[in-house]
Amino acid sequence: MTHPYDDWALATRAIRTGHHRTAEGEHSEPIYPTSSFVFRNAAEAAARFGGDEPGNIYSRFTNPTVSAFEERLAAMEGGDACVATASGMSAILSTCMALLQSGDHIVSSRSIFGTTNVLFNKYLQRMGIETSFVPLDDVSAWEAAIRPQTRILYAETPSNPITEIGDIRALADLAHSRGLLLVVDNCFCTPALQQPLALGADIVIHSATKYLDGQGRCVGGAVVGDAKLVGEEVFGFLRSAGPTMSPFNAWVFLKGLETLKLRMEAHSASALELARWLEQQPLVERVHYPGLSSHPQHDLAASQQRAGGGIVSFVVKGGREQAWRLIDATRMLSITANLGDTKTTITHPASTTHGRLSDEEKEASGIVEGLIRLAVGLEDLDDIKRDLTPGLEA
Ligand SMILES: *Cc1c(COP(=O)(O)O)cnc(C)c1O
Repeated sequence: MTHPYDDWALATRAIRTGHHRTAEGEHSEPIYPTSSFVFRNAAEAAARFGGDEPGNIYSRFTNPTVSAFEERLAAMEGGDACVATASGMSAILSTCMALLQSGDHIVSSRSIFGTTNVLFNKYLQRMGIETSFVPLDDVSAWEAAIRPQTRILYAETPSNPITEIGDIRALADLAHSRGLLLVVDNCFCTPALQQPLALGADIVIHSATKYLDGQGRCVGGAVVGDAKLVGEEVFGFLRSAGPTMSPFNAWVFLKGLETLKLRMEAHSASALELARWLEQQPLVERVHYPGLSSHPQHDLAASQQRAGGGIVSFVVKGGREQAWRLIDATRMLSITANLGDTKTTITHPASTTHGRLSDEEKEASGIVEGLIRLAVGLEDLDDIKRDLTPGLEA
């Protein structure tokens, strides 16, 4: 499919696509806080409901502010269709509900977002959809886990929280050679750093709550892909089940997209410098960051990401006790599970975001007790270092 924005680079698409100026001539995108839309006459109502005439009906189906966000994000990811959702989790749920049925099987990378793991292992399992978990970086393990019932390969790269990298091209080739779909959660990189569809993925998932917002204000999500799978199938589920995005949240995300590229570059630059600094600290046993040359998949990351992103995790000597002491010794950093904010956040995954995992699952996902995750914000880097220093000197 060709688009009017095909000649525009990502930064331009982020600012100029999606807004269709009304007769008022507004320069900034308007918000439409309305649940329904009025028809000029009964025939128009019938034509809209029957699908014979395009246009808005009801905001569970479509809303102009939400559509503007969808059009902009689709342009940035290089997809033909985007469906905005109430949260990142409802983006994942909607994709699975729209494309899978009882008896189907998912192969997923092992170290995925904690709640995604619960969704797959508990709720989809109950509906008769089974998931096998494999190491993100071992393509032969993915291949070995495929069954006749498999429909989807599901990957999150870089992974949360230890930033393992999945080879999107290789996973897409594997999926397509077996007639499967590759779904990639692009939350950590965003289209500013990585475009999974261009690397062969079929569907991209977003938690807009994170970097797309960028300032920790709203919860939202999105699914991006082609017109059939996403524009029809996923949209059809959303329209029937209802986890839609509110127009206000869509407006916040729409404005967030305009500065996404600049922010992702700044997050990445600070994260890289901080990761190098952490590597030199005697109390630090190990640093996980794709931009470090010590990262086992540094070259793969460089081949599919424009920069390393804002998430750095590291392991301190002394396990949970030392990790908690370091976290509690900070004064400025926010102790919170959110990420992708201008404010740097610090988390102890083993007791919070990944606390529901069994000991074996934690072990397999690299969630050790001494692990700390930083989502590096946009404060002055020296101030971030200064805030971490007391805990590193313990
Ligand atoms: C936060 C997150 C989600 C879930 O998104 P919500 O907006 O919190 O529902 C999914 N995947 C990843 C990688 C996340 O970080």
